[in-house]
Amino acid sequence: MNNITENIRILKEELPDKVKLVAVSKTKTVEDIMLAYNAGQRVFGENRVQELMSKYEHVPGDVQWHMIGHLQRNKVKYLAGFIHMIESVDSNNLLRTINKEARKSGRIIDCLLQFHIASEETKYGFSIKEAEGLIETGILDELDNVNIRGVMGMATFTDDMDKVRSEFVYLKSVFDKLKQTWFLNNDHFTEISMGMSGDYKIAVDEGSTMVRLGTLIFGERYCKIDNN
Ligand SMILES: *Cc1c(COP(=O)(O)O)cnc(C)c1O
Repeated sequence: MNNITENIRILKEELPDKVKLVAVSKTKTVEDIMLAYNAGQRVFGENRVQELMSKYEHVPGDVQWHMIGHLQRNKVKYLAGFIHMIESVDSNNLLRTINKEARKSGRIIDCLLQFHIASEETKYGFSIKEAEGLIETGILDELDNVNIRGVMGMATFTDDMDKVRSEFVYLKSVFDKLKQTWFLNNDHFTEISMGMSGDYKIAVDEGSTMVRLGTLIFGERYCKIDNN
């Protein structure tokens, strides 16, 4: 058995049933993706539109693609026809653009609101204040072609696991607050996407429903890429 197949098998066994696995295939080949696919994996994540599109064309149609990186509004149109979930919604304008392009494609697109939970300034995302301000405008009733499924966040890149844990606890509290205030009767608002290869166990402890794992499945990435 090759490593990718084995890694998928181990992770599926280890992760609790309620935690979905997003296989982050950025910088990896279609051959690597197909090894994971043949091991039963169907959900894949990419952080760049062009790379996502070129892979989309070469894999079976039941692959579910998640966009997990910062998304420019002028590129939404390329994804709108097929993307399964956009995890990195970080502005009002982006959400409106997704709605518009989804409508043109006759689709309703699942989205997560990305929150800024890390101390690095480079990580995108809403603050809780910004997100509440947005929701208070009534935008969610207005946008019929987006389905807000929950929240997403990236912890600080650090060895300080107490810090990482406290950031995940914070994201869970953000989810709970939004759920209580605006989504109580919404059965779709269920997802907390947190946890990467170095910290997913902590994330799962703290309530993650979706982990995004690249290195742990596909091995190290050798080319320099920007993680945002
Ligand atoms: C690259 C990336 C991941 C996966 O990172 P690993 O440490 O390789 O598991 C998860 N989430 C986002 C947003 C990423 O850009």
